[in-house]
Amino acid sequence: MTIDPSTAAFDPLAGLVDRDLLHDLAFVDGQWVGADNGSTFRVDDPATGAEIASVPRMGGAETRRAIEAADRAFLSWRSMTAKQRARILRDWADLMRAHVEDLSLILTVEQGKPLAESRGEIEYAASFLEWFGEEGKRVYGDVIPTPIPGRRIVVLKQPIGVTAGITPWNFPAAMVTRKCAPALAAGNTMVLKPAEQTPLSALAICELAHRAGLPRGVFNVVTGSAEDAPSIGEEMTSNPTVRMLGFTGSTEVGKLLMRRCADSVKKISLELGGNAPFIVFEDADLGVAIDALQACKWRNAGQTCISANRILVQRGVIDEFAARLVEYARGLEVGTGTDEGSQIGPLIDKQGFEKVKAHVAGAIDGGAKVVTGGGPHKLGGLYFEPTVLTDVTPDMVMSCEETFGPVAGLIPFDTEEEAIAIANDTPYGLCAYFFTKDMATGWRVGEALEAGIVGLNTGFVSTEVAPFGGVKESGLGREGSYYAIEEWVETKYFTFAGL
Ligand code: ADP
Repeated sequence: MTIDPSTAAFDPLAGLVDRDLLHDLAFVDGQWVGADNGSTFRVDDPATGAEIASVPRMGGAETRRAIEAADRAFLSWRSMTAKQRARILRDWADLMRAHVEDLSLILTVEQGKPLAESRGEIEYAASFLEWFGEEGKRVYGDVIPTPIPGRRIVVLKQPIGVTAGITPWNFPAAMVTRKCAPALAAGNTMVLKPAEQTPLSALAICELAHRAGLPRGVFNVVTGSAEDAPSIGEEMTSNPTVRMLGFTGSTEVGKLLMRRCADSVKKISLELGGNAPFIVFEDADLGVAIDALQACKWRNAGQTCISANRILVQRGVIDEFAARLVEYARGLEVGTGTDEGSQIGPLIDKQGFEKVKAHVAGAIDGGAKVVTGGGPHKLGGLYFEPTVLTDVTPDMVMSCEETFGPVAGLIPFDTEEEAIAIANDTPYGLCAYFFTKDMATGWRVGEALEAGIVGLNTGFVSTEVAPFGGVKESGLGREGSYYAIEEWVETKYFTFAGL
């Protein structure tokens, strides 16, 4: 990609050491390619609103060709041993780690999160490549004792074929590898569409795949603007060559893609919206609970699907909890992600910013009190103040929908039963957190919460070794861990007769 040296002083990416990681073309069949009609769309830095790149506006035709490339690559990729595939994935992971500073800078500049968080995300993203490469060696089959003489019953786990991935902007690197790593490790090939806000991280990851020796066509990335997403999605879901779709994004789009996949009965893995409860019981260590919010409320400015969205605090400790939380929130450093001291960066775009504002306004209208923050930050642009609200109720919009912003609304409760009832009173069920020192409460509440992921006395639950995913309208299937690789293989029952 070319950057005018005369403007380099204003280029937030000027610090890149390896500029070949920056690509403004899509990656199909091992080649860097533009859209058929040459059109592009802007990628902006949310910290300033300035354009940082323009990448191809692709549609159905380009996606079809990427699927054909993935299909051509499939037979030889599946024929390699899992150990050979693991070697490539390991080299790919190592390259990500070796370029962590450059990858983090690209991620922060297109997404806004603080550099420290981007570094953590790059390590997390690399961990999927490494872990699933190894796990590919353990895609074991089975031999089942026969009930019929002269027979043998064998179960094989085989790759599915060409797969598709669609990823969101909040984790532009980790969501890519969380899909492609298990898919590729199991012997599948993939065509992936990154979010329109953050394609550069996905393209940088492609550059490293190429350097790691990933054969052409095994992993392809097509780019498109928000307007192009439906036609790319339409091709991915209607093309019979694609046998599975992995998606992370909104419940609304997930349902649409699920309906479309029904026509050709594709396998799906969906990680959709959440509405995480965060329950603090009176016997909890309040310091632990407040620290936990760094991981699941303030991180990524609250823009994660496992962000604590409804903070339920038992009445006896709510005043103390609120006071300590306010002190913490006031100490958070808001600023450009590229400033090393920043803890809260800008929100992703105007739409996200307006949603956060509307949720806070709705809560205030409904009787909530602003204890700190409450509006746009004085830095302007897409920065929002770390906000703490009290007297929030479960029926407010901010309690029913994901706010995706640095806003903590406290809801009081009296009993364990009441807390569980409020926590479960949502169509979503991705993640839930609760805090208590009592082990009996721990077991009871942990079992009663309707969520795919439950954190007791922690706000940090993300790791490549554990199954990540939701229940109810938060999705289907799991990503991460040995449960996830099962999503990306077919089970074949193979019987031998006449023995
Ligand atoms: P968010 O609200 O977090 O942006 P979305 O579900 O809108 O979540 O977006 C997640 C991903 O889904 C992005 O890559 C986006 O471009 C893509 N997407 C949005 N609409 C469609 C669609 N109709 N078909 C395929 N992909 C889509």
